[in-house]
Amino acid sequence: MATLLLGDLWAEAPLENRIFCSVLLFSWAVYLWEAFLAWRQRTVYRTTTHVPLELGPIMDSETFEKARLYQLDKSAFSFWSGLYSEIEGTVILLCGGIPFLWSVSGKISNWAGFGPEYEIVQSLVFLLLATLFSAVTGFPWSLYNTFVIEEKHGFNQQTLGFFLKDAVKKFIVTQCILLPVTSLLLYIIKIGGDYFFIYAWLFTLVVSLVLVIIYADYIAPLFDKFIPLPDGELKQQIEAMAKNIDFPLTKVYIVEGSKRSSHSNAYFYGFFKNKRIVLFDTLLEDYSTHNKEHSDEPGSETPVDGRKEEDTEAKAKTKNKKQGCKNEEVLAVLGHELGHWKLGHTVKNVIISQMNSFLCFFLFAVLIGRKELFAAFGFCDTQPTLIGLLIIFQFIFSPYNEVLSFCLTVLSRRFEFQADAFAKDLGKAKDLYSALIKLNKDNLGFPVSDWLFSTWHYSHPPLLERLQALKELKQD
Ligand SMILES: [Zn+2]
Repeated sequence: MATLLLGDLWAEAPLENRIFCSVLLFSWAVYLWEAFLAWRQRTVYRTTTHVPLELGPIMDSETFEKARLYQLDKSAFSFWSGLYSEIEGTVILLCGGIPFLWSVSGKISNWAGFGPEYEIVQSLVFLLLATLFSAVTGFPWSLYNTFVIEEKHGFNQQTLGFFLKDAVKKFIVTQCILLPVTSLLLYIIKIGGDYFFIYAWLFTLVVSLVLVIIYADYIAPLFDKFIPLPDGELKQQIEAMAKNIDFPLTKVYIVEGSKRSSHSNAYFYGFFKNKRIVLFDTLLEDYSTHNKEHSDEPGSETPVDGRKEEDTEAKAKTKNKKQGCKNEEVLAVLGHELGHWKLGHTVKNVIISQMNSFLCFFLFAVLIGRKELFAAFGFCDTQPTLIGLLIIFQFIFSPYNEVLSFCLTVLSRRFEFQADAFAKDLGKAKDLYSALIKLNKDNLGFPVSDWLFSTWHYSHPPLLERLQALKELKQD
């Protein structure tokens, strides 16, 4: 009876109300699904208190316990931050936050001398206010994550000053890119005629290519220090390996990732014949400041207050163990990374993302004229293009985005196995095997996971599966 009544109500409700309710319900459905998966994974952290038998040779019980506590803290943090952002989003939608911000932006641009005919100006003010709002509300969470959770587990290397400066810099750089790009995009949509979606897509394609080109040379150095890898054995070995697989390597850099955190990584970038490799200093045993600080400059960090003292002590504890990989292991990790290039994973990912972007702009062109979409979110008299982009790309596409992101996660895991196999073909199975174990340990990864959680979330296969695959490959 009650369901019948609900069904009738639903059928009789105006289309815009049904759209609004569907968006809200879907958002909560995704939230609950994620919360369910996180709960399953949390149960694994809580109940797996001893190193499982098959992991005996890989992980000592001390590291295992450290990783377990770290992941438990991280999972609690993401539960609360996830709940907060879901509630925040719901409140914004229910209280008409978007039309409110839009009208405030209109008043500001009016006040600055741009009347309602300047929709682009109003859109830029809206964008600035919206990103400012999300930066401000997200700030306490990222502060807590860095200075409480990462700090507690010995990963944080930032001072509060560095962190604040970094956040402000990041905000300014983002605006410098976002505002001009958005105004051009809005302009193209406005003057593009019937086929505007093709021009809009081409424009975003060009922007993403330009960003890839300038990011490494002009944007990333604003945040981190990149130094060329000094001549030596490692550099020679890297160059030899690149040559061996025809990788057009031009430069190898070390980035001071250790200024931010002790997590380690490696990547490559660049176009065509101009490729560079970047290694985190935390990846390299010889460069990891984690290993150096202690022996090189005893007491150089003068403790200022009690907290700092306790801090140094905690860090010293984690420094007891050497971090980073030996040269052969670094080479094996690079062999894996270059495998992504050689096997065309990078190109495939670019093609997929561009096809997706084209499809989205096409659907956007189909939907943008539907007034009920705007009405659903409180825009009854006006249909601003920026708001249309927001509604369609973020809310209407969200089921599609969920499915796509899951497919990409599955694909990414396939690529990881293939890249591992590539490194093995280079004769690096043994070194990659030990590198994966070391990196998992340095990053306090927890080697046991719930199958459903890892299937949904892990872009990399679980450690044990990768090791198992390497072992099988080893016997080939
Ligand atoms: Zn990979």
